Amino acid sequence: MRDGVWAIASPIPGGPPPYTLTYVLEGSDGIRIVDPGWSGEANLRALRSSLADIGFALHDVRAVVATHHHPDHLGIAPRLRELSGARIIMSADERTVLAHQVRPERRDPRLYRLQLEAWGVPDDRQGDMIRSFTDGPPLILDVEPDAVVGDGDELDWPGHSLRVVMTPGHTDGHLCLVDADRAVVYTGDHVLPGINSGIGLGTLGRSNPLADYLASLERLAPYDDWLILPGHEQPFEGLRARRAVLTAHHLRRTAEVMRLLPELGEATVWEYASRLPWTAGWSGLRGFGLHSALLQTERHLVLVREGHAEDLLGRVADAQG
Ligand SMILES: [Zn+2]
Repeated sequence: MRDGVWAIASPIPGGPPPYTLTYVLEGSDGIRIVDPGWSGEANLRALRSSLADIGFALHDVRAVVATHHHPDHLGIAPRLRELSGARIIMSADERTVLAHQVRPERRDPRLYRLQLEAWGVPDDRQGDMIRSFTDGPPLILDVEPDAVVGDGDELDWPGHSLRVVMTPGHTDGHLCLVDADRAVVYTGDHVLPGINSGIGLGTLGRSNPLADYLASLERLAPYDDWLILPGHEQPFEGLRARRAVLTAHHLRRTAEVMRLLPELGEATVWEYASRLPWTAGWSGLRGFGLHSALLQTERHLVLVREGHAEDLLGRVADAQG
C-alpha cells in the first residue's frame, strides 16, 4: 500500500462482504495490525501465510487496533493476543458499547421479539428474523481491550505515527486512524468505496447515529486528497467525492421519509420501510438484511419525527454551498 504498510484480504465465512481488509504495519520491533478480521482457522491460515510472505510470523504481532467492535474487524484479535501477547486497542467509547452489547439480556430472543413488535413486523415474518438472530454466528464478542484511546490520541510506534479521529455513526465508538507521514487514512467501515455501511449498528441508545455519521463524514474533509485504506472492498482515492455520495444517499433517504410523513403519520417502521426503495427490493430482504433495513428506517424516522430533519437537510445544503 505504502512503504511498510501491507493489506491482507481476511476471509469472512458467510459474507458478503467476502473479506475484511486487514492492514499490517511493519516496524523495527515487529508488526502492528489494524482490523485483524474474523475469528477462526481460515483467517488464521490467511494471516499466517501472508505474514510469512513479508518475513513475519504471528508471534511478531505487537498490537492490534480495531476500528470498531464488529466480528469481521475485531474477531480474531483475542486469538492473536494469545499467540503473541499483542495488546488489543480500541476506542474508549467502543469499549463501552461492547460492554453494553454483551449483557446477556441483549441476546435474549424474547427481547428481540419485543423489538420486532415495536417495529410492526407482521407475525408471519417474525420467525425468520428471530432465527437469524439466534442461529447466526455471535455478532458480539466479549473482548476486554488492553488499552483504550480517544479523539486526538497519538499511537507512536516504530515506523508509524497514527492519530485517532473519532468517527461515530456506524457504531458509537468507531475510530479512524490518520498517518500524516504517508498521507493515508485507515477508515474501517466509516467510509467504504462502494458499500453504504449501516448506521447505528452498536449504540448506547441515547445517541443520534445518523446525525453523528454525517458529522463524522465532515471530520474527514482535511484528508480528501489522501489514500483511503477502508475495511472492505479496495483502497481508493477521491474521498471528497465519496463523502458527497454518502451524504447525499442518507439525506435522500431522510427526504423520502419526510415525504411519506403526511400520508403515513404515526404508522409503524415496517409500513414506512415497505414504501421505500431498497437495492435488493423490499420483498427480497430477509434475516439480517431486513433487520438492518428496519433499523436504518427507524433512524431516519426518529430524525424526522423529532423535527431535526429540516435542520439537517438545510445545514448540509449550506455546507455544500
Ligand atoms: Zn465490516
